[in-house]
Amino acid sequence: MSDFYPLLVEELQYIDILYEDMEGSKEGYILPSQFNKTGTNKVYLNAHFQNEPPVFSAMVIAHEVTHILQLKNAYALDCIEKEVAAFLNQAYLYFLIDDKDRNALDEAALKFEDPSSQSIRFMAKIFDSKVKECGKENWQCWSEGLKEEVTKMVYSSEAYQKQCRTN
Ligand SMILES: [Zn+2]
Repeated sequence: MSDFYPLLVEELQYIDILYEDMEGSKEGYILPSQFNKTGTNKVYLNAHFQNEPPVFSAMVIAHEVTHILQLKNAYALDCIEKEVAAFLNQAYLYFLIDDKDRNALDEAALKFEDPSSQSIRFMAKIFDSKVKECGKENWQCWSEGLKEEVTKMVYSSEAYQKQCRTN
């Protein structure tokens, strides 16, 4: 499902992660090393996530660091595919966390209207239903089903259509 999740964890040590005051509707963004003086890849997260359980920030970081890796390794993916990969890495993180963190995440994401927070909730719902449908052990079944649904979600999201200019 997520071939480069281990790479993502590995990459974390080289990235500066910072909170910044930004519009409520924004979740975060990346500042690649070539565009800043320090030569370090930076991930900025909306400062309002500081008041939420750490698992929420971790989710956003998983998404944004995916984009850093995509830039760094120049994966041959189009804009939509890049977003799908970022959500699948979030799904992988969701797979790894326990029920307590899953509930905390859902509760926190409920408070935010931005498309990424809404997508986190949607991704979590798809994950739960696919795992239920396929059985937890049947990794291939649920990960394929998850990928299919996440792809549909990104394609039908107005925010990502705008960002990727597909229409
Ligand atoms: Zn993204």
